Amino acid sequence: MAVPSYRSFPSPLLGMGLNGGQNVPIKESSGDYEHPMDVESFRVAAKSMIDWICDYYDNVESLPVRSELSVGDIRSVLPSEAPTGPESWNKISSDFQEKIMPGVMHWQSPNFYAYFPSAFSFPSLLGDLMSSALSVNGFLWVSSPAATELETVVVDWLGKMMGLPQAFLAIDSEGKRGKGGGVVQTTASECTLVALLAARARIMEGRPLSDTSRLVCYFSDQAHSSVRKACMVAVTPHVRVLPTCHSTGFSMEPALLEAAIKEDLAAGLLPFYMVGTIGTTSSCAVDPIGEMGAIAQKYKLWLHVDGAHAGVAAILPEQRHHFAGVELADSFNTNPHKWLLTTFDCSCIWFRDADPLKAALSLTPAYLRGKGNAYDYQNWEIPVGRRFRSLKLWFVLRAYGQEKLQGFLRHHIRLAETVAALARKDERFEVSAPPRFGLVCFRLKGRSNEDTSALIEAFNKTGKAFLITTDLAGQTVARIACGGFMTQERHVRATWQLIGDTATALFSAPEE
Ligand SMILES: *Cc1c(COP(=O)(O)O)cnc(C)c1O
Repeated sequence: MAVPSYRSFPSPLLGMGLNGGQNVPIKESSGDYEHPMDVESFRVAAKSMIDWICDYYDNVESLPVRSELSVGDIRSVLPSEAPTGPESWNKISSDFQEKIMPGVMHWQSPNFYAYFPSAFSFPSLLGDLMSSALSVNGFLWVSSPAATELETVVVDWLGKMMGLPQAFLAIDSEGKRGKGGGVVQTTASECTLVALLAARARIMEGRPLSDTSRLVCYFSDQAHSSVRKACMVAVTPHVRVLPTCHSTGFSMEPALLEAAIKEDLAAGLLPFYMVGTIGTTSSCAVDPIGEMGAIAQKYKLWLHVDGAHAGVAAILPEQRHHFAGVELADSFNTNPHKWLLTTFDCSCIWFRDADPLKAALSLTPAYLRGKGNAYDYQNWEIPVGRRFRSLKLWFVLRAYGQEKLQGFLRHHIRLAETVAALARKDERFEVSAPPRFGLVCFRLKGRSNEDTSALIEAFNKTGKAFLITTDLAGQTVARIACGGFMTQERHVRATWQLIGDTATALFSAPEE
């Protein structure tokens, strides 16, 4: 079999073009406004685009994962002004192919292991397509009842699959609406921010505005940067970043947390918000949610649990122990758009009591009035406008079913264990944290941080796979995040082989 070249892009494999070889004519305009692309020309273009997408997925494995372009390369081949008149779809689609595709990182390659996965699946793509096709804006129940009602149902479905406590669900077993419930947001970053705003609304109720200068929030040094960003955006005056260490597996130490809260209370400050993470971004560490929850209740802080990547693992009974104590949280979020086959963006957050959230975010002018007894999700988020995101999640949950989804997560957890076992067998490497939720962290044993960085850069240059490094307690470690739509055992085995071969090529010369 011919070995595909990782250097020859644009690839002839994708040579078909988006126009399906047909000329899509531009209509001459007359009296009424006419769109350059009407229904019939859309029909032609869209069908050939679907063919293009199928070809892409048939061949993405053979494309170099990382684009090797330099900054400005794409801009330099694009005109600096938009066209004054309509351009033909043929020309647009061939420019997409020739000028845009070379700069695309192939996140859906089975050999993409960087960051956390960005989920894809065909039912999800269909859901996104349909959501764009309908292009409704579901900010109020009345602005598109199906968008709101489907969201309530589907987010409850996912909450039940994950074993979330009843209090987090919108509708109880008798069909009654409770105080809690979930909603789909764009990202975990937005979830963390709205949870913070809800926490602030709760603690500030009945207090003078000047008390906002005393607010403190708490998280560990392993919390995602978006947590700190939420504090920046919300102008939180005091932020306590608690240190973690290797010996405790990079998870939050409750004694440090409680000591910090006590110290701040004694100094006249107002602790109000803490974030625990299940599956930190660097190493998939798990904070002790139960102990944090007990502290949160004792000192009346809001506990938000960030399970952006790993939260969906709660659909696996054998992973539930990581979620112990989640019933003590005030809010919990996870991103189906990372590991659960639902295309970006789709991040779900559940609240035990959504009233403080609505108190923080409701502001209803006459033109945005809804029906009093319905969910109006504009009051659960920062933007007014919102896409029909629940559609793609609904398609995924139905087209896969709970068991196939469990199988998908288990598959990746197994792949990470396979990589860790391979790494442990090669005495040049060490595994830096226990493999968890599909993530493996490793480094060159007894070598400098620079050596591990150089290894990963040389490896990524091959184009055959892509991974990133992170910092764990001053050590540079490489991360292999399994979770891709198409990743199989043969991919991770080949990847590990290539990492070993790259290390041999780089470091086999005797050191002085
Ligand atoms: C990826 C990640 C985030 C950020 O997710 P977005 O949806 O991109 O905002 C936050 N927290 C953790 C733990 C993550 O892994």
